[in-house]
Amino acid sequence: MQTLTIRLRTRTPLWTGGLDGSMDRIHETGLLGSLRWWYEAIVRGLGGWACDPTEGDRCPDRQGRYCDVCTVFGATGLQRAFRLEGPVWWNKERSKKLVLKMRDHRGWHLGRGLLGEGTLQFVPLRLPKGWSRENLWKTLSLTLYLIECWSGLGAHTQQGYGVLEVDGLLPSDLDGWEPWPQQRSTLRSIQRLPDRPSLDGFFFAKVRFTIESHEPKKWLHKCVHNISPTDELNWYLQQSNASQQRSVLPLAPVVRYHLRHMVRSKWDGKYHLRHRLMGELGQKSLIHVSHAYPVKENKWEFRIWGWMPESLSKGVSRADVLTELKSWLGVSQHHQWHPTQNAQLWIDLHLTNPEICWYEIKSDESTETYLQELLKCDCKKSPS
Ligand SMILES: [Zn+2]
Repeated sequence: MQTLTIRLRTRTPLWTGGLDGSMDRIHETGLLGSLRWWYEAIVRGLGGWACDPTEGDRCPDRQGRYCDVCTVFGATGLQRAFRLEGPVWWNKERSKKLVLKMRDHRGWHLGRGLLGEGTLQFVPLRLPKGWSRENLWKTLSLTLYLIECWSGLGAHTQQGYGVLEVDGLLPSDLDGWEPWPQQRSTLRSIQRLPDRPSLDGFFFAKVRFTIESHEPKKWLHKCVHNISPTDELNWYLQQSNASQQRSVLPLAPVVRYHLRHMVRSKWDGKYHLRHRLMGELGQKSLIHVSHAYPVKENKWEFRIWGWMPESLSKGVSRADVLTELKSWLGVSQHHQWHPTQNAQLWIDLHLTNPEICWYEIKSDESTETYLQELLKCDCKKSPS
């Protein structure tokens, strides 16, 4: 196997940024940055060494060693182990934007991203010491599979973008996966950086709901004061390819709007906490919300996920935030689909008791087991 080729189909638009805030084409650097970010979280979660350039902990270290992440993704003086060729796509409608406004709000502007199908080609350049090519491909596949099941790829995954389906990746392909070459992890005693994403600090949720009227547009107009232009909304809702309807219901800003209100009323006065959770004043939001995509007739699904540091603000821990989130979302069970009951968010969104599947690490669970549980996800199966 010379090259690893992966077919992908978008479920919500893919965004990789551009120079002027619009997206002119797929930028591989955006995809690589996202893959690297996830691999760092996996490596940290499993007890490996992931450097943190923002803390001055840059590879190579004084002894010329590279961390478990740079070993794969490269750093100064070390070539990346592979080259990525992304889908070739030029955005012919890069100025198009969907604007959603609430009554008390100046509006969200959703730029046009890529909706469709494409191929990711991973071309090997160098094998990390002690690795076979299969190790390298399994590592990249595992990272992509976690993204496919629970989160998103590329930029703006906080704002709805980046959910995708990947062809041909199955968890059984990942049997025997080794996180990194054995000898590396003993290279250096690992300093845990409590403020960098680590898989054990992530929560993931998927929500499935039915729109009673079977008319997504009508429902969206009930939730949002003003949506324009209509053409752009139609672009989201009327996506299809030969075999399937590929609509996107652009609800992420609306969900975020209500979550932000709940955060504000729960932790009144804790501005820093609110800005960190919901991403304001130039901070990236810790909470990510996807747009919704169809899973079967009249049923839609979307995701809420994120990484929480153990302590967020004076007197507010990860556990405190997750407890509140679960109550707003009506979560009563972990690691399985279950119906919600009149939780605040669903009332605000005019949705009747959606089903939810919530994952967070259990108190007696290792990160390895948590990762395995996450990869047993049923996202390829039809919902019950
Ligand atoms: Zn490094």
